[in-house]
Amino acid sequence: MQLTKTDFIQYLNCPESIWLFKNKPDEYTKGEFSLFLEKLIKEGYEVEEYAKQLFKKGIELPENATPEYTKKQLGTDSTIFFQPSFVTRKGVFARIDILEKLDDGGYHIYEIKSSTSIKKDKKHNHLKDVCFQKYVLQECGLKVAKVSIINLNKEYIRQGDIISNELLNITEVTEELDNLYSTVVNEINAAVNFINKEKINQEECSCKYKTRSNHCDSFKYFNKDIPEYAIYEIGRISAKKVVELVEHNHTAIIDIPLGFDLNIKQQVQVESVKQETSIINKPAIENTLSKLKFPLHFVDYETYASAVPKVNGMSPHKHLVFQVSIHTLHKNGDLKHFEWLGKKMELPLEMLTKMQEFTGLTGTFISWNAPFEIGKNKDMIDWLPQFTNYLNYMNANMFDLMNIFKEDYVDYRFRGSISIKKVLPVLCPQFSYQDLEVQDGTMALDTWGRMVTDHNFNEDVVQTRKNLLAYCELDTLAMFEIYKVLK
Ligand code: SF4
Repeated sequence: MQLTKTDFIQYLNCPESIWLFKNKPDEYTKGEFSLFLEKLIKEGYEVEEYAKQLFKKGIELPENATPEYTKKQLGTDSTIFFQPSFVTRKGVFARIDILEKLDDGGYHIYEIKSSTSIKKDKKHNHLKDVCFQKYVLQECGLKVAKVSIINLNKEYIRQGDIISNELLNITEVTEELDNLYSTVVNEINAAVNFINKEKINQEECSCKYKTRSNHCDSFKYFNKDIPEYAIYEIGRISAKKVVELVEHNHTAIIDIPLGFDLNIKQQVQVESVKQETSIINKPAIENTLSKLKFPLHFVDYETYASAVPKVNGMSPHKHLVFQVSIHTLHKNGDLKHFEWLGKKMELPLEMLTKMQEFTGLTGTFISWNAPFEIGKNKDMIDWLPQFTNYLNYMNANMFDLMNIFKEDYVDYRFRGSISIKKVLPVLCPQFSYQDLEVQDGTMALDTWGRMVTDHNFNEDVVQTRKNLLAYCELDTLAMFEIYKVLK
């Protein structure tokens, strides 16, 4: 069975998950992040195209070129190769982004990353990725003399056409690999052995003893005996407590023994599950809501993030606000709606102009997970400073409706989450995201991005705009409805 670099990275994060993917692909859940991952892959290709411009005489090897074909090409007079592929006798496969043949017969590997930094953390270590590439080449008999990583320059600001050598940084990491190389070789061998195992323990996986943030979409496959309303749903429960409870076979919240050491918020959540009811601190909510100044502007942005900046003035990975919905509630009970959806990739000058006309510098702005909207406002101040006063007003008068659900309103049916998609159906069952064509922010960004940049976009533009507007409108209407229930 072949082991690619992507497989290896997945193995480092979780051996069981890659085993399942390789050995039982039908049982492997792709999960809700697949659209997001597809976008990352597309972005990777885009960065690669700019990186190739740094190497004028490179020759492109066909995507399905065999390692034999690659070997033949290496024997020609060319010195730069794009996407050459290699496979070791044990089936470890690598496609090198850019490979340079040096005068002394050695080779220089260039690995392209669409991040703005070289990651060296436990979850993802770019140095391990390049060790993997180096290992495959060396196993195939090539001498790797140099290794470099090409990644995005955080400081780059687009002005007109992209300038590749300003957009990208090249960092040589040859020496840094020395300390890591033998460890990675051992890990590669272990990965090959693991994915080729005929059987592994499929009754449970190690995440049974870890907090929810570690779980992947295969958690249910490996841990079929975990009940509904499980201990993993308890907000911020520590890994130590999860281990303690699992070891005593208390995986259901209702089985948590009385007096088990949990903080107040966690205890409230447990009580809510045990009593199958919501636990509401009415005076605290009343006090919080009484401080809001009318008119109340329920606001939500949708944003488009791209590795390579698409608009002048922007830097890599910055988010462009392309849509807004605002429901404004006036003191007399009037509810007015404003919406704006961009028609092309451009700074939201028109949006802010119209928004400001609609809301003025009055009242309280209400969002769900306010740090997001506040962060986007700060970015927009940099790009469109003429709106500094307005955006500063918004940020100074921003209230996060989600905060109420951190401790003053707890309901077991939220399943330990306070995302609006979990809270809305419990408080306002008549509203649902389920019937919408656009289901979440990632889908919105993907749909809008394709609609405004892809010349081959073959969906109905009028209908697509309606779908995007309906999704964003529901986000702010949902906040208004939740506010009404709280009142
Ligand atoms: S739930 Fe955790 S241990 Fe289990 S397969 Fe997923 S990542 Fe691996």
